[in-house]
Amino acid sequence: MSESFDYDLFVIGAGSGGVRAARMAASKGKKVAVAEERYLGGTCVNVGCVPKKLFVYASQFPELFHASTGFGWTVPQTPRLDWATLRDNKTAEIERLNGIYNSLIDNSGADLHDGRATIAGPHQVSVNGDTYSARTILIATGGWPYIPEFPGSEYALSSNEMFFLDELPKTAVVVGGGYIAVEFAGILNGLGVETHLVYRGHQLLKSFDREMSDKIQQGMIAKGVHIHLNTEVNGITKTDNGLCVALNTQADMAAGLVLYATGRVANTANLGLETTNVVVRNNGAIAVDDHFATAEPSIYALGDVIDRVQLTPVAIQEAMVLVDHLFGQGVAKIDYSDIPTAVFCQPEFGTVGLSEEQARAEYSDIAVYVSDFKPMLQTLGGGPDRITMKLIVDGASDKVVGCHMVGEHAAEIIQGMGIALKAGATKAHFDATVGIHPSAAEEFVTMREKAR
Ligand code: NDP
Repeated sequence: MSESFDYDLFVIGAGSGGVRAARMAASKGKKVAVAEERYLGGTCVNVGCVPKKLFVYASQFPELFHASTGFGWTVPQTPRLDWATLRDNKTAEIERLNGIYNSLIDNSGADLHDGRATIAGPHQVSVNGDTYSARTILIATGGWPYIPEFPGSEYALSSNEMFFLDELPKTAVVVGGGYIAVEFAGILNGLGVETHLVYRGHQLLKSFDREMSDKIQQGMIAKGVHIHLNTEVNGITKTDNGLCVALNTQADMAAGLVLYATGRVANTANLGLETTNVVVRNNGAIAVDDHFATAEPSIYALGDVIDRVQLTPVAIQEAMVLVDHLFGQGVAKIDYSDIPTAVFCQPEFGTVGLSEEQARAEYSDIAVYVSDFKPMLQTLGGGPDRITMKLIVDGASDKVVGCHMVGEHAAEIIQGMGIALKAGATKAHFDATVGIHPSAAEEFVTMREKAR
């Protein structure tokens, strides 16, 4: 414990990165504080990954009810969703997780301050009217949904509110073409809401492999989502029945709800950064070096607030690297390449490594393997789903540099592929691996014909 400071580490924000850093530092015998003004577990636990995945599960049941009839089941009456039950059961589960986070912090020996913390100087943090001194301060305040200003933008909801709706609308407009837009479009559609996805660009999920994003789009349309590309919202007005969305390309659209999923910005407002030398980039994110140090030597930042990769597992790794740097051996490093990720749209998407477009730009000779087939469930179940799997191989080294999948269980399967790519697996390694039969995943080790 420090002689002259109240704390060795004061963490602002009890999200994925902040809690991991606090627990790791406390486990090394350091005197640690965590301050949280809203909810333990941050975006991921409260208004992100976890409740989103529960809603995804909920939204998949209608297709399963339908498929079950092909397997001989009779569903006695048309299944009906009780939204309030789903919402409240979800909230109860999140509250259980909040409790677990509370215990994790408590058991680690860190002090939890329940309130909004502000920085009062390079070594000072104020919370609930008290000011504490800290040898190091970690800003792990995450991000917040961004909604652009336009006529009627006050009627637009962000993903935060989607988890607590009083009721589900009959029709919804979802604006955006990134992770959150496609995920919520799938959820709403699956829950029985007529869903219109409005995107200003020409390709959803544009930072990913083009062929795969085309497959996702086709799959979403097959499931009933109405997709409006190259379309912008001019304004939203309130009507007697709900909302009216004015679009630049077509007639106005009536909607019970308009969700804006147009990105997230770093949470740095009113944090007291002006009392320090911390530098904020143009997009509002905190500038840090390889060790997550800001321009103020005693202050560090990680996770969504530095806006490198807005993913929970990345924030957790960043936290472990930082604690090793501050209080450990100083050898841990973070490698931002080959981060596996999944988009829980429907159909689901899992991906690791380079897209075909990126691979073509980086390598002179690549081989592309693609497999597209009907999942076994659909043979009797009769749904519209397909599975597409794709491997991209560097011709010179035979290394697999990209691995992508659209379809059921893509996230689960791509996690394993992430290890293979991290280990530098070659196409020969994939070919030498025995498949698991019958599975969809076995296609990854049986693709022999080059598509391109
Ligand atoms: P994204 O950055 O993924 O997508 C934002 C979308 O909004 C883009 O399609 C963008 O269009 C569009 N957009 C931005 N500004 C405007 C505007 N003024 N008018 C109209 N459209 C606009 O952000 P999300 O909000 O979807 O998600 C934030 C981040 O959270 C993700 O990037 C991801 O890192 C993380 N996340 C991860 C998930 C997961 O792991 N499964 C799930 C959900 C979120 P354009 O492309 O034209 O710029």
